Amino acid sequence: MRAYKAKMVSPIRLPDRDEREANLERAGYNVFNLDSEAVFVDLLTDSGTGTMSENQWAAMLTGDEAYAGSQSFDRLQQAVADVMGFERIIPAHQGRGAENVLYGALVGEGDYVPNNTHFDTTRAHIANSGGEPVDCPREGALDDDRPFAGDLDVEAVRDLVDEVGAENVPAVLLTITNNSLAGQPVSVENVRAAREVADELDAVFVIDACRFAENAYFVREREPEFADDSVAEVAREQLSYADAVVMSGKKDGLVNVGGFVGIRDDPELDDLYATARERGILYEGFTTYGGMAGRDLEAMAVGLREAVEERYVADRVDQVRRLGDLLADRGVPVQRPTGGHAVYVDAAAFLPDVPADRFPGQALVCELYREGAVRGVELGSFAFPETDRPELVRLSLPRRTYGADHLEHVAETFERVADRRDAGEIAGLEIVDEPEMAELRHFSAELRPVREREATTAD
Ligand SMILES: *Cc1c(COP(=O)(O)O)cnc(C)c1O
Repeated sequence: MRAYKAKMVSPIRLPDRDEREANLERAGYNVFNLDSEAVFVDLLTDSGTGTMSENQWAAMLTGDEAYAGSQSFDRLQQAVADVMGFERIIPAHQGRGAENVLYGALVGEGDYVPNNTHFDTTRAHIANSGGEPVDCPREGALDDDRPFAGDLDVEAVRDLVDEVGAENVPAVLLTITNNSLAGQPVSVENVRAAREVADELDAVFVIDACRFAENAYFVREREPEFADDSVAEVAREQLSYADAVVMSGKKDGLVNVGGFVGIRDDPELDDLYATARERGILYEGFTTYGGMAGRDLEAMAVGLREAVEERYVADRVDQVRRLGDLLADRGVPVQRPTGGHAVYVDAAAFLPDVPADRFPGQALVCELYREGAVRGVELGSFAFPETDRPELVRLSLPRRTYGADHLEHVAETFERVADRRDAGEIAGLEIVDEPEMAELRHFSAELRPVREREATTAD
């Protein structure tokens, strides 16, 4: 049940079918090109798209916009210490800014950096610092209903170290929840094991804590040792093993923009803190604002405390689960158990007649818009060319934003897409224009339905 009511509203409109068809065509069958106004239920991402609370808005008015020594910074620092247990922070404009600050200080040419799975920007920052990002998920993690499919395979990390030498592994990373692996959670047991490996190597243990509150909820639910703890207690326990955290406030900071690096107050980490702080000043801004306005610091200070409130996080995780159930009830193949922030649909299984080279994931994304002005995102062969990723479509839920009727609408939209599929009306897409950097094509490439081409060649 929703543990809040609306006090400020943002009107949305379902465009009629002709408009939707026209919008889709104008967007080149790429939903990144749609105006948000043309979207009814926007599940493109949960990053920075959520709704702030009245207490966050109220706190924003107290923002101290001083360049140095801002009281708003002190309040954020105190919130991070209370909620996450890190005494020293370096603020940044968003998560990737924090990654640049920390990984630039930690990783050098020829280094190898293991992680349960590197999120895209993490991978890019490790590589940009001269390092080699190495994914070490559990083998077959998503094959069966594992409670902690997001875990790091610590033996794979040890194998990597045997191969490249401990001196070339400066850090062990752990991403909670595991965003690139269907948002699946990581157990505290696994965090402890990762800490042990880091100690064996004398490496720094970093947690990418973007969704630490959602992860803590799953731990309490699934790891018997924590069954009687509060989400806030689990969150602190889980993060207590790390030397540093990287945080995007756009996720469990419950804000629209912002982030930070947290570093434990330990003399062994003083050099890292000093270097990271300098990089913070160079790339983000002075150490007491780091790319955020004073009011942004205030909003995140309040948001972090709200993120571990029982009623908030229970509602959050349950809403994602409910969407997964609604779709599964209608025979849509979804990844289950669902993760913390999104439902992942197996588009190849849902549209079995669309071959891989006609982008079943992107075809599904376009059909969801055509049938219901619902916007999701493709994370398959269109977004990641020349990899063997499964053809997934992700439906991310913005925090505290949509209600049960919107989820119903999404489920009904899937039904209509299924009807079109059964009538043989979905043939897939082909690319007509793409950027030079293949890695960026899902943001800007243009496509068209395959059928159109067949029609024109027949002419
Ligand atoms: C979103 C995200 C980031 C990057 O944060 P931004 O605020 O988008 O720059 C890093 N790691 C993970 C796991 C994320 O989900």
